[in-house]
Amino acid sequence: DPRLKAITEAIRVVPHFPKQGIMFQDITTLLLDHKVFKDTIDIFVDRYKDMGISIVAGVEARGFFFGPSIALAIGSKFVPLRKPRKLPGRNITGAWYLGEVISEKYVLEYGSDCLEMHVGAVKPGDKAIVIDDLVATGGTLSAAISLLERGGAEVVECACVIGLSHFKDDCSVNGKPLYFLVEPR
Ligand code: 5GP
Repeated sequence: DPRLKAITEAIRVVPHFPKQGIMFQDITTLLLDHKVFKDTIDIFVDRYKDMGISIVAGVEARGFFFGPSIALAIGSKFVPLRKPRKLPGRNITGAWYLGEVISEKYVLEYGSDCLEMHVGAVKPGDKAIVIDDLVATGGTLSAAISLLERGGAEVVECACVIGLSHFKDDCSVNGKPLYFLVEPR
């Protein structure tokens, strides 16, 4: 696909961000190029438009740049998977945010993080895809898959703009297919 070369070239690499030794793949420059941004969305839309997808779930924050456009184009709902304490919840046990959100912790290279989803955002029978900008270890996507499955949805595939090359041989996360457009620059 000739569009992939332009997508790769539109991604800016920022050395030593956010810390020494990391070559950060910055997709904000891709968003500034209308043709490349549209091509990126179109590739996902062509892939998912006839698969009966009812939910596009986007991972905060960079999954939010791509997910809603895909959801609108394929006629599905958009569900934000958010970092802790961002989704409004009800105070039922003395602790805020319990009751209306479900949480899934995941391990990072240093430390851990958490994603949350509103209870009722997905329903049994929903067919979902998860979208994020980049997959590195797959930990974030695994947490996203767990949240959706706990809500009763079937996760059809995970989709990213950028995937690290070690996923090339086994293109799956937690047993779910993984689809990505380009490798890091
Ligand atoms: P994983 O959980 O697969 O190890 O890491 C993926 C998550 O980290 C994604 O949510 C992604 O946004 C973020 N991430 C890690 N490294 C980079 C990077 O170099 N560029 C961008 N844009 N995101 C990154």
